[in-house]
Amino acid sequence: MSDDLYAVVGNPVSHSKSPRIHSLFAAQTGEPVEYTAIQAPLDGFAETVTGFFERGGRGLNVTVPFKEQAWAMSDRRTWRAEKAGASNTLFIDKDGQLNADNTDGAGLVADLVKNHGVTLAGKRILILGAGGAVRGVLGPLLAEQPETLVIANRTPAKARVLAGLFADDAGDTQLRGCGFDEPAEVFDLIINGTSASLQGELPPLAPAVIGPATLVYDMMYSPDTTTFNRWALSNGAKAAMDGLGMLIEQAAEAFAIWRGVRPDTAPVIEALRDRVG
Ligand code: NDP
Repeated sequence: MSDDLYAVVGNPVSHSKSPRIHSLFAAQTGEPVEYTAIQAPLDGFAETVTGFFERGGRGLNVTVPFKEQAWAMSDRRTWRAEKAGASNTLFIDKDGQLNADNTDGAGLVADLVKNHGVTLAGKRILILGAGGAVRGVLGPLLAEQPETLVIANRTPAKARVLAGLFADDAGDTQLRGCGFDEPAEVFDLIINGTSASLQGELPPLAPAVIGPATLVYDMMYSPDTTTFNRWALSNGAKAAMDGLGMLIEQAAEAFAIWRGVRPDTAPVIEALRDRVG
């Protein structure tokens, strides 16, 4: 019997680590999974998705720039996808409906809590950026009930809009949006969800947000310490983490949704870290 077919759809997509990650998950769990990468034309995402499922495909991951389109074309959405306004995980359910989930936030929280032993409950968290990645993780972060969650962005209005959008999910957490120049207090955890590191740039943040116990997490990953993490460490941060674990944890969450089996991520993070490094 042939393997069940899965893929990641993006444009470009050749750089994606998802095929390697899911192949390692399949080998580890013994699940009959074949996972490929599909580059959809920029104006042909919906046709690519429809064609894939018509050919018997079982599930898709979706990456830049199609996550919002995946959300828009779906028939059903989980709460976390609904709030994220974007989807990175698609599948057809037993009623033949296209389901959208978003596993990025669960991936970030799993990497922080499970892999790095970071407690989020009751903590003061600063998150930088107000793009798709940050919107995708706010729901799962708020579910951990931090004391404070400040969203700071280059365009402050976008941070305020996001804070408003998640006000109903905040519970007792003090949630607010602002510009980079506003936060002046020390945070327990600072998460960089901007794409500034991709250009080797830094969000212009006051070093006063970093204290001796501050942890930093850059959603970006690279073989070398990222620009943001270097800046934080040189300003006294206790430790710095990058986003490779988040990438692998969001993939594990998708694999568990599709297959009902949760892979062990530790050996996969190790294998990818060797390869990245
Ligand atoms: P978007 O393009 O949606 O948003 C980019 C954000 O970065 C905006 O808030 C933008 O501010 C800000 N920004 C861009 N350039 C600069 C700069 N030079 N200085 C300060 N702020 C800047 O991108 P995404 O949200 O999709 O992705 C953000 C990052 O998260 C990327 O590095 C991506 O690789 C990473 N990511 C990692 C994942 C993982 O699994 N590890 C998963 C998803 C994303 P403004 O609003 O003012 O334009």
